[in-house]
Amino acid sequence: MAETMEIYDDRLRAIVPMDASLQKLANGAVHSEGPVYFHEDDSVIWSDAHGNRLLRWSPTENVSVIREPSDYQSGNYRDLEGRLVACSSGLRAIIRREHNGEWQVLVDRYQGKRLNSPNDLVVKSDRTIWFTDPPYGITEPNQGYGGEQEQPGSYVYRFDPATGEIDPVVTDMVRPNGLAFSPDERLLYVSDTAAFNIPGGPHHIRVYEVVDNRHVKNGRVFATIEPGQPDGFRVDEYGNVFTSSQDSVQIYAADGTLLGKIFVPEICANLTFGGKEHERLFITAGHSLYAIDLNTRGVQL
Ligand code: MG
Repeated sequence: MAETMEIYDDRLRAIVPMDASLQKLANGAVHSEGPVYFHEDDSVIWSDAHGNRLLRWSPTENVSVIREPSDYQSGNYRDLEGRLVACSSGLRAIIRREHNGEWQVLVDRYQGKRLNSPNDLVVKSDRTIWFTDPPYGITEPNQGYGGEQEQPGSYVYRFDPATGEIDPVVTDMVRPNGLAFSPDERLLYVSDTAAFNIPGGPHHIRVYEVVDNRHVKNGRVFATIEPGQPDGFRVDEYGNVFTSSQDSVQIYAADGTLLGKIFVPEICANLTFGGKEHERLFITAGHSLYAIDLNTRGVQL
């Protein structure tokens, strides 16, 4: 077993090779967040969220800055057309990079009032974009441009870029942050990182049943994450949840059992699956980007 791991349940052995080792691919960011993989050129794009830059790594070209300033871009994803879609904590908007390289704001308001500061997002197979909207870009000086909070709470929204329709789907969380669907998209997982700056606040992942592809019901706590916060996370093809935490990537079975940990030497903020076989886990942690090869694939594109 590699020294980077701890195993609490034998089911971990089927998904993490016991000789797997963590590789450091890049460093130099102020705060690495929001990785997304592009199979076309085997590259990872991620946010230097507090450094106000967008970075790219590829095995042949190493690291480059592809957008600066990035308006405090946070979570990144790709849509079904291969375009980069992202949360702009500074613009308080969901933005998209078109095929010609230009960025456009897709949505920045709900009921005529500005969003708080979208943090992370996922594109569903029906092309709708589901995103979290905590106020960190307003309250934290290194995550946005400040301003007034106009929304009464921190919600998870469903946005349809085809129609412009936007609706809150989760309204009972304190600081929703990361989110992901189960492989069949019948479950929506959302993390709450309120404990980051609210003493006694939640630091857990909740799970909701998805109804009619547009509502959720029966929310409950899936797992309480410690030490630290479950900032961003992903789900693999078997429904296992790979979440960031202070000391490691923690891996939970769909039944909520903690299977094990992959220790990371910096505070882990987010992760994504990629690689040619989609079995490589890319991890944004502290100033750096790491990778580890697994025996399971992510469900996202
Ligand atoms: Mg986040």
